[in-house]
Amino acid sequence: MSARRFLSIGECMVELSQAGDGLLRKGFAGDTFNTAWYARACLAADWSVDYFTALGDDAMSDEMVAFIDKSGIGTSLIRRIRGRTPGLYMINLKDGERSFSYWRDNSAARSLAADPDRVREAVESADVVYFSGITLAILPREDAATLLAEIRRAKAAGKLVVFDPNIRPRLWASYDVMHTTISEGARSSVLVMPSFDDEAAHFGDDSIDATIHRYKALGAVNIVVKNGADGVRLNFAGEETFVPAEKVKKVVDTTSAGDSFNGAFLSRYLETGDAPAAARFAAGVAARVVSEHGALVVKEKLGLSGGRARA
Ligand code: AMP
Repeated sequence: MSARRFLSIGECMVELSQAGDGLLRKGFAGDTFNTAWYARACLAADWSVDYFTALGDDAMSDEMVAFIDKSGIGTSLIRRIRGRTPGLYMINLKDGERSFSYWRDNSAARSLAADPDRVREAVESADVVYFSGITLAILPREDAATLLAEIRRAKAAGKLVVFDPNIRPRLWASYDVMHTTISEGARSSVLVMPSFDDEAAHFGDDSIDATIHRYKALGAVNIVVKNGADGVRLNFAGEETFVPAEKVKKVVDTTSAGDSFNGAFLSRYLETGDAPAAARFAAGVAARVVSEHGALVVKEKLGLSGGRARA
């Protein structure tokens, strides 16, 4: 079978976390990259997973590319821009509470869609295209329009286009722009994978039904609504299923729970087309992710073997 390509589009940042004694530990993470990581961990070897972003030409950009490459994720589509640098965020810890500081206003990734030919080339090369509300939020408005036009072409060509609204109000110029652009992202997609708490807080949905109805009305074909420890609701071709979350002994860190769920879900769904079974598998992977520290949990701790789940 010829290789199939899963393409994730967005921003990966340098992550600094507390390592004790005032020292900082450096890592790399970002919502769409995290999903690519888990898709790579769970997909069979006949799939390639590629990341599409923009980086600079500094040493930190080189290190990030090397890290992505070492993770088994393709870097050939990454745009390198002279004089630019990656975005950075720091995880602060005070009295056990985590908070985040970001330095990403001028990151290279903001220019990832500034060259329409490269966007077209990347999207055309893929069988599955994954992006998020954060991907759209960081782009200048005209570049978001460029990306969405290519995404719509992919949908029209019958590709699986997947969107996680991942709503982060502080990344958007206004609520109005945020609502309009996220709705446009969903309209351009086949499968939408929102988190209910975000949708309730920022779109005012009073129930999961309301979230499903709103995204259906926009033209999304299939919806997976994640609801933390309360499981997920699927609406595939109009058929509803509920899949519970797995019980976790001790939740250690919920960073990237949703991203890992998406990557694991897609890996199974792409292989079998069975959405409820894919959601059960993803609930298992996400449960392991929230039981460990950090956004990127290594494959050995995900209960997988040879790129596929044991069970
Ligand atoms: P969220 O984005 O918070 O809705 O979480 C995504 C997925 O991670 C959920 O659908 C669950 O499968 C899993 N998850 C998140 N929080 C928990 C938790 N406290 N216990 C078990 N699973 C969880």
